[in-house]
Amino acid sequence: MDCIFCKIASKEIPSKVVFEDEQVIAFHDISPEAPVHVLIVPKAHIASANDITGDNSHIVAHIFEVAASLAGRLGVAESGFRIVNNCGNDGGQTVGHLHFHLLGGRSLQWPPG
Ligand code: 5GP
Ligand code: ZN
Repeated sequence: MDCIFCKIASKEIPSKVVFEDEQVIAFHDISPEAPVHVLIVPKAHIASANDITGDNSHIVAHIFEVAASLAGRLGVAESGFRIVNNCGNDGGQTVGHLHFHLLGGRSLQWPPG
């Protein structure tokens, strides 16, 4: 399948990996929007949040656990951070493989535009 995040997960495309286990890989976003901008991605191809089901939601729970741990390791646990999922066109999703952005290290605006 021609999927950029599947290729990153299989190391076919290089990335700056900050965490990896059997279920997920986390790496620095190529175009960071904040001093800390990491993408946390299931290794299995799940197209978007529309495809989260009872069969794979344990991976999403695990991603949030990894995000909390990475926030500590990357030094933003105390200052605060944001976990974002963009879904579909209106959500601003540009890569069709489920991923969660971990953003921090600056004051983030709300609401988003
Ligand atoms: P989305 O807009 O789908 O929520 O987020 C996709 C993110 O993937 C963007 O922030 C974009 O910068 C990042 N991205 C796209 N291609 C690559 C890549 O090849 N390597 C890395 N590390 N990040 C990528
Ligand atoms: Zn994929």
